[in-house]
Amino acid sequence: MSKSPWIFRQLFDRESCTYTYLIADAETREAALIDPVIDQVERDAQVIEELGLRLVLTFETHVHADHIAGSGVLRQRFSTRSVMGAAAGADCADVMVEDGDRVTLGGLTIEARSTPGHTDGCVSYVWHEGRRVFTGDALLIRGCGRTDFQQGSSETLFASVSTRLFSLPDDYEVFPGHDYKGRTVSTIAEEKQYNPRLRLGTTEAQFVATMDALDLALPKHIHEAVPANLQCGIVHAAEAPAERGWAPIERVDGVPEVSTDWVESNRSAITLLDVREPDEFEGPLGHVEGAQLVPLGKLDVAAQRLDPELPYVTICRSGGRSGQAALHLEAHGFKRVASMRGGMTRWRDNASVGGCG
Ligand code: FE
Repeated sequence: MSKSPWIFRQLFDRESCTYTYLIADAETREAALIDPVIDQVERDAQVIEELGLRLVLTFETHVHADHIAGSGVLRQRFSTRSVMGAAAGADCADVMVEDGDRVTLGGLTIEARSTPGHTDGCVSYVWHEGRRVFTGDALLIRGCGRTDFQQGSSETLFASVSTRLFSLPDDYEVFPGHDYKGRTVSTIAEEKQYNPRLRLGTTEAQFVATMDALDLALPKHIHEAVPANLQCGIVHAAEAPAERGWAPIERVDGVPEVSTDWVESNRSAITLLDVREPDEFEGPLGHVEGAQLVPLGKLDVAAQRLDPELPYVTICRSGGRSGQAALHLEAHGFKRVASMRGGMTRWRDNASVGGCG
């Protein structure tokens, strides 16, 4: 049996239901990530290392509103070049692609196909050798990205899908930017036949009416994610230089937060402070292995024996008390401190079933 000339992996972020794709030339070992997520940078780096690959490129399908991109942090770490649609307006990208541009990765070629509508700058990446297309949020499995913010336009998205994606060969596999129902892959033929919003025969007016009726809530992290992603995901670099490089911090109502996934993969490198009461620490939710019990009421005294130069993550039941604790420590000169988003409740949920959105 001949060896495959490439390596392909589909990776998933539970928090935002985002797919990240790894493509590599099996011969040269050069690798690219499509839509990396900042909270998953450690996981992605580990896969790349274990497979003996060298990360050289990151591709963004668009400026995301629901999560922070990992491309900026990966660039700092691996000296990658980041690729983005020129129309996205993110000056941080190294390669701004226009419709029809081709980017090479070892012996592989990725074609940028502009597919606006979800946002102005949306690009789908067509990998002809692999007979796959990475559609971002333009075309999802049996759905599509929303068109009600970030310069979204239902008319434009309709044109993009019908003329730029449905014109690809039927057997091309469709790998989307997200899925909320556990599906992983589709094909152009399947979407032409079964996509309830966009299947062949749908008129533009019908599609616009469907999209107008959706009435969706704004994504939780839009106010942090969009400005950060216009900087390739380098978060609040101007305001908080001390935070850079140690953790993918998101400020929510001023509180520095990190995800449970990030804590899980970095817990050996940080000190975990559980600020609940002793009975909760030993209670049914349990505690993260290695966490120190420092009830919130005793934090002031305990802080005197902690080294303010070290990194800390505070933990409680759902994120309220740990947020207060993180802000308190920051106010007392601790430079690298964050609260674990969602607390032990989220930690337990992730440990048992996973789940996102
Ligand atoms: Fe999106």
